[in-house]
Amino acid sequence: MIKSNYFSSNSDMLLHFDKFIPWNELVPIYENNFHDAKKYNETGNDLFATAPNNVEEAIEYYRTILDAAGDVAGNFVSQHVKAMDIKGAHYENGKVTHPKEMIESVNKAKEAGIQPYGFQRKFGGLGLPFTVRALMGEIIYRVDTSFAIAFGCVNLGEILERIASKEMQDEWIPRMAGGEFCAAMGLTEPNHGSDLPNITTKATKSSDGKWVLNGTKRFITQACGLGETPSIILTLARSGGNGARGLSFFLVQSKDVQIAGIEKKMGLHASPTCEVVFENTPGLLIGEEGFGLVRYTMGMLNGARMGIAAQGVGMATAALEEAKIFAATRIQFGKPIGEIPAIKKILRRMEREIMAMRCLTLEGGRTVDMYYWRMEHLKEEGKSDKEISNDEEVRHWMKLADLLTPVSKYYCSEMCNRVAYDALQIHGGSGFTEDYDIARIYRDARIITIYDGTTQIQVMAAIGGVLSGMSATGNFRKYLTNEISKFPASKRILNLFTTLEKAVGGYKEIKASEVRDSFSIELVEVATRVLAGIQLEKTANLLEGEALAYRLKHANEYNIDSQAIALSNIEKMKEFANVDKL
Ligand SMILES: Cc1cc2nc3c(=O)[nH]c(=O)nc-3n(C[C@H](O)[C@H](O)[C@H](O)COP(=O)(O)OP(=O)(O)OC[C@H]3O[C@@H](n4cnc5c(N)ncnc54)[C@H](O)[C@@H]3O)c2cc1C
Repeated sequence: MIKSNYFSSNSDMLLHFDKFIPWNELVPIYENNFHDAKKYNETGNDLFATAPNNVEEAIEYYRTILDAAGDVAGNFVSQHVKAMDIKGAHYENGKVTHPKEMIESVNKAKEAGIQPYGFQRKFGGLGLPFTVRALMGEIIYRVDTSFAIAFGCVNLGEILERIASKEMQDEWIPRMAGGEFCAAMGLTEPNHGSDLPNITTKATKSSDGKWVLNGTKRFITQACGLGETPSIILTLARSGGNGARGLSFFLVQSKDVQIAGIEKKMGLHASPTCEVVFENTPGLLIGEEGFGLVRYTMGMLNGARMGIAAQGVGMATAALEEAKIFAATRIQFGKPIGEIPAIKKILRRMEREIMAMRCLTLEGGRTVDMYYWRMEHLKEEGKSDKEISNDEEVRHWMKLADLLTPVSKYYCSEMCNRVAYDALQIHGGSGFTEDYDIARIYRDARIITIYDGTTQIQVMAAIGGVLSGMSATGNFRKYLTNEISKFPASKRILNLFTTLEKAVGGYKEIKASEVRDSFSIELVEVATRVLAGIQLEKTANLLEGEALAYRLKHANEYNIDSQAIALSNIEKMKEFANVDKL
């Protein structure tokens, strides 16, 4: 893998950090009038020692952390990923072992002070907004997915900050943040993957009020812990009747389950994917009974899905950088293949797709930051749930975040695979061997359209938001038109907006619901590309001179691709408008 600082050597990421992310808007919302810094000045409590006093300090703090992450990922872990992949994780007699390079890499990253990035300061976390977490995710996933999961999984515990009782938070979060545990997400079962509402692992309450769990979960990443560090498995189980309302959410310790085996997989060799048996396993109820899937798991998955979007950008960047080096050094017909028009064209497409993915992920992170922290601060001020859910700002941004989260996960994971495919193609036959890193990147990329909800499930989550959001008074329409008003929009982007309206019309005209549903992906694709295209053009217009011209050129080419895709999707929808069955 390329050895460099994966933050400071990434010019597009730096543009976002230095010029595009609206820190003046985000930081005050996140820091709530620099509440933690004031606390530190009053109490001297070390937990708040790094809290910034103003926007400039916050930016410098984020920069220091991302630079440290870029250094450890790019200069240290990158030199060990091949060994981790070859050695892989092993299972014997109920125990899982990781390659020693994995343990060393995770320890090195902890020493770099970049953990735990998902928890708030009051619990011992770094206190980073989602926008910065997205950049962190990109950096660590660029180096290696198995590493990034092993290192980052503890941050799944962030859901406890939102939903657990104060006693549970105080007991468990500081221990997780302090490195006593890693975390795992116990949802999937052998017979229920996408179909989570019907899972069967049973939770029973005994007469002393304690819960025990019985059943089997499949594909649970890191349920075994990492080295000597055990896991907290955040587990979905049935405490009541049928369907989603019968499900609750439990905190289970890995010492109380049996790891029955790990999967032999095409990728993520160093990341153990465990079969977990619960046999009268103690579980602590998190939050209230019956909200396990609809509120808590979905809350956890929304965070995880933004993480996968960032993963897509990171892995795609790794693929592009490998392809660029290969294209510059492989000589055919007397010149580097990177000078051959067909290859040049592929490289340019990869680059603009990554630019679009990064825009989309960071915009997704921004929408979460814009509502989530305001909601938290309103809670702290003692506002009721009703008052919070009626707050105009919270409502507006939450709706957008509910759309941008699945859309970012869907698009970045699919596009990452496309970029990895292109990168391998550029490597020719060498790409098909294990001599080059692209083979591992390509294999590992394949999972990201599947886990944490497949592409089809993300599309199902997004389609309602596109349709209602594009109505005459819909908030997606308002948001897009507001974004377009922030820069001198090109004719092409204005045309694309009209094309999106036509695509919504074309979708609605499909009469049979079964046929219409099957075209959701075409409509969501158009909506996503229009959104990404607007962000590309908006950010280009924040630049000057050559940088402006360069980014505008990429934005224009991206939007040409989008127009062609949108027109073709609309054409297909038209053809199927009167078809009554697939
Ligand atoms: C390496 C790896 C790590 C994983 N880590 C975890 C983990 O840590 N925790 C955890 O709980 N799970 C984990 N999973 C499980 C993962 O989340 C599931 O595999 C995924 O949700 C899909 O479920 P499934 O495999 O049962 O596929 P299925 O649900 O059987 O889906 C098969 C196909 O049908 C499609 N499909 C299903 N339902 C619909 C629908 N209603 N509409 C349209 N299409 C549909 C899917 O999109 C897919 O293409 C992991 C899986 C792998 C391989």
